[in-house]
Parts: sequence; C-alpha cells; structure tokens
Amino acid sequence: MKKSYLLKNARILTKDAECISGKNVYISDGKILKIMDSTSDDGNIRADEEIDCGKYYISPGIPNLHTHTAMNIFKGIAEDVTADDWFNEMIWPYESKMTDQDIYVGTRLGIAEMINNGVTVFADHYFGEEQVLRAVKETGIRGDLAPTLFGGTPDFKERLEEVTRFIKEHREDSNRVAFHMGPHANYTCPAPTLGEIVDRAKALELPVHLHVSEEDVQVEKAREETGMTPFGILNEAGGFDCKVLIGHGLWVEEEDLKFLKEDTWFAFCPKTYLKLASGKGGFFDYYRQLNYGFGTDGAASSNTLNPVEQARLFALLGKFFDRDSSTHTMQEIWRHLMEGHKAFPFGTGEVKEGAPADLVIWDLNGLDTFPIYHPVISILYSSNSQNVKYTMVDGVFLKYDGRLIMDEEALKNEAADLQKALIARGKGKAKVTY
Ligand SMILES: [Zn+2]
Repeated sequence: MKKSYLLKNARILTKDAECISGKNVYISDGKILKIMDSTSDDGNIRADEEIDCGKYYISPGIPNLHTHTAMNIFKGIAEDVTADDWFNEMIWPYESKMTDQDIYVGTRLGIAEMINNGVTVFADHYFGEEQVLRAVKETGIRGDLAPTLFGGTPDFKERLEEVTRFIKEHREDSNRVAFHMGPHANYTCPAPTLGEIVDRAKALELPVHLHVSEEDVQVEKAREETGMTPFGILNEAGGFDCKVLIGHGLWVEEEDLKFLKEDTWFAFCPKTYLKLASGKGGFFDYYRQLNYGFGTDGAASSNTLNPVEQARLFALLGKFFDRDSSTHTMQEIWRHLMEGHKAFPFGTGEVKEGAPADLVIWDLNGLDTFPIYHPVISILYSSNSQNVKYTMVDGVFLKYDGRLIMDEEALKNEAADLQKALIARGKGKAKVTY
C-alpha cells in the first residue's frame, strides 16, 4: 500500500498557467483524491504524511516527448562535428559496440536526470528495450517505449517479430509502462519495411513513434528518390491512420499539413537543432497548426534531458525569428509543454481530483528565480533542477526535499566505469548509414 500525503497550503499551477492559491491536496493510492480550500474543515482527512507547501508551487509533472535515454552514456562524446559525422563517424560506430549494461546504466542515468528536472513521463526511442523497461520499472518513472526498428538491416524481419513478442509480453506489466511501434525514420526504413511496421502497429492497436524531417537534406533526398516528402512517405505507408508521435518534424512543409490528424503529435527539440545547425525549418512557420509538445532528444545531441529548457529555447527562437517579442507568450509555451501529456495514454497532465498523482513541487525562492511575479515566468525563463523540490509519479516521491530517492553516487560510479570501458573498446562498424 502506498503512503498517503496531504500537501497543505499549496498554490496550484494549472495547465493553462493559472495559479490557484490556498489549497490542500490529498493523495492516496497513486491518485489525487481531493483538493480542498486550506481554510475548510478537512479534519476527517488523515494522511500518513503532511507537507506544508505554503512556500511552494505545485504543477503537473513535466512530459518529455522524445528521447533516447540510454544515450546519456554518450553525453559530450560527439561535439563540434557535422550532422553527417555525428551519425556516421561517432554515434552509430560507438552504438554498434554498446553492451546491455551500457543501455541499462545509461537509461538509469537519463531517468535520474529527468526526475531531478521534474519529468514524470517520457517517450523513449531506443533498442535494448529489455534494459530500458527494467530501468523504468525500477526507478518509478512512467515510460512509453518505442523499441527502435531499422528496416534496411538483414535481420529486419526477425527484429520485427522480436519487438512484437516483447510488446505483447509486457504491455500489461504496469500502469507506468506503455509502448509505441518505433521505426527509426523513413530514411532508415525503406518503403516496404515502413509499411510493414505500420501494419504491425495497427494489428497491435499501438501508436507509432518515429523521426520525420529533422533535416532539410532528408526532405530533398526523399523528394529526389520518391517524389514525396518524408511526411508524404509516412502517409503512403498508412502511418497517419495511427496515432503518431513525430520526433522533430522541424522541416515540415505546407504540403505536409494535409496529412496531419487530431492525434498527430510533434515532439519539438530545439536544442538539438541549434547544436546540429539544422536551420530554421517550417515548424517555426506552421507551429500554430500543429499539435506539439517538447522533447529533449538524446543527450549525445542535446546534452540535457530537461524539457523546460527546450520550451525556453523554442520561445526564444520563435521571438527571434518573428522579430516580435510579443509572440510565443508564456501561457502559450506552458500550455504546449503541458499538452505533451496527451501524446501518452496515462491520463496525466492536470492537478485535479481523480487524476494520477504525477506532479512537481517547485521551490522558486532561490536566487535564480526570485522574486516571483508569475511562477510560470520564473519556471520557463529562470529555473533549473534545483528549483524542483519534489517529483512525484503515481503517488510516490522519486525526488524528495531536493534529493533523488535513488542512489545517485552509486549510479555515477557505475556510469564512470562503463564510460572508461566504452572508450577502450572504441568504435565498431555502423549497421546503417545516414
Ligand atoms: Zn531522436
């Protein structure tokens, strides 16, 4: 049985960036059971623990819509290189020699960083799904896994069956676990294989999570080879019949908009685009017509797994490109940050009665964030992980009073040993080319 909590005298930040003061929040068995006025007679509610939140703000947890969590083990390994070299000379050769332990510890490291930043749910896109699932279950976070499939490799058919078996076996394991089918991208899954993966997603009633139109060169190449954009190729494969989570979509074009449905979600990760010099894509022109939230991409390209930082960069870039500092308002950015929850099946994203107890308790009294004119402004433009005082997932605190529940030092020691070993092993031969 989980502990019950009474969060007293709280100020609640809604998904629309409103601040509601003077509330007591009662949490039991993983749910927000009751929200009442702090001054009301709540004498008959007894909790195992009471926390005075009078100095703090409570918001829904932060969703991360796109990451490759295990790549935390590669954070900082491929810097100041072209996108071509990033894939072909660095990441894919190193990944070809990755061990299960690298994936497991890298994923734990990434999850630890996310919890530290208030992330309560993430969409992962990686291979080694057994290790990713193990890390999700052990750490207490919510994970939505897309075991990655490369269509162009000789073992594709076997791998598709392996992933199908894995998902069938584990999809009911936990209320904190869900799955997407995860083709890597149109350019690594040639036409017939992308169609096969989409068909499998339909048969299993699963959504699809893949990379689409990250770089303009991909769009040009797709056009040359097929006469279609990557979105067109995905449409041809039947992809938009499913709920789809688009990793990036930076270079979405006007002609692509007709393919998008109500349940097509974009995971926008601007730090990666800045890092890899991806340019100003159509996303900055069409974002108002898209369902989008924020992802972090993997730490090998964006170095941090903090979606708030990504939202901040989107707001700044949007204002900069528009030459209009009144656009990309804090309400709009916060709403999209929170709307990302809709890309997941967990029913999270609001601090309200009956909702899952996935939340962040923010302490904005530090030098970085004080004084506070509007808490969402403080969070969006000034906060860092130190402002995340508590992170709760499914009614359980994973960060408590500023400290992670998991053993951070032991985890870092293990990761440091693996880092030495992976450098000593060196690069192997990449299975695919970019
Ligand atoms: Zn990605």
